[in-house]
Amino acid sequence: MTDRITRLELSRMIAAAASRIREQHARLSQLDCVAGDGDHGSAMLRTMDRLEAAFAKDSDLKSCFCEAGWSVMGADGGASTSLLGAFFLGVGESASPDKDSWTCADLANAFRAGLSAVEAQTKARPGDKTMMDALTPAVEALGRTSGCSDFEQALAEAARAATTGAESTRDMIAKYGRARHLGEKTRGSEDAGAASIAIIFDGFSRALNSHHGDSNA
Ligand code: ADP
Ligand code: MG
Repeated sequence: MTDRITRLELSRMIAAAASRIREQHARLSQLDCVAGDGDHGSAMLRTMDRLEAAFAKDSDLKSCFCEAGWSVMGADGGASTSLLGAFFLGVGESASPDKDSWTCADLANAFRAGLSAVEAQTKARPGDKTMMDALTPAVEALGRTSGCSDFEQALAEAARAATTGAESTRDMIAKYGRARHLGEKTRGSEDAGAASIAIIFDGFSRALNSHHGDSNA
């Protein structure tokens, strides 16, 4: 059982998420072709490279998240990198500078601050067929488990919530982003950004869950 995480665990979580995004970037671009411009897979490859680089630095957690946020925000000027950058910067800005390890409650609070930073950038909310359909329930699931001292359980629940949220976008009509003008045509496939969030939380969860025996973690 893991009850505190340091930069080392976070960099393992990010490495596992990056490895899954690299495996699935073609599918992410395909999903973005349905209602967007087909570049989401490559945007996520850049995002994960930048996240990994930020957490490879021998720095405190707050600085790693702030650096990750600025770096991802500057990745390409697209919608997903701007919003994900805002998320990681929001996490970093809320974090205490003198903590080199986090409890479940610290992670839940920091991710809640990250979500608030995204909510300040977009009016999209769950139900609008965007990344918010996966990110919001994942962060809320972490909030519900913040009293527990078991990261494996907390991250597994966040990953389940993100996956369920991403799958639910299949039946939705897009209201934000490039897809917003396409109406009914957007129904029938998952939102690309929501799919990415589900992959990332699945990677986070597998990295700490020894039962998966993740060799990429
Ligand atoms: P772009 O649309 O600039 O090409 P990407 O293809 O990388 O950016 O990302 C598209 C994803 O970004 C969408 O599938 C959706 O999840 C998310 N997205 C786009 N616009 C918004 C928005 N206004 N609010 C929330 N999420 C958005
Ligand atoms: Mg796109």
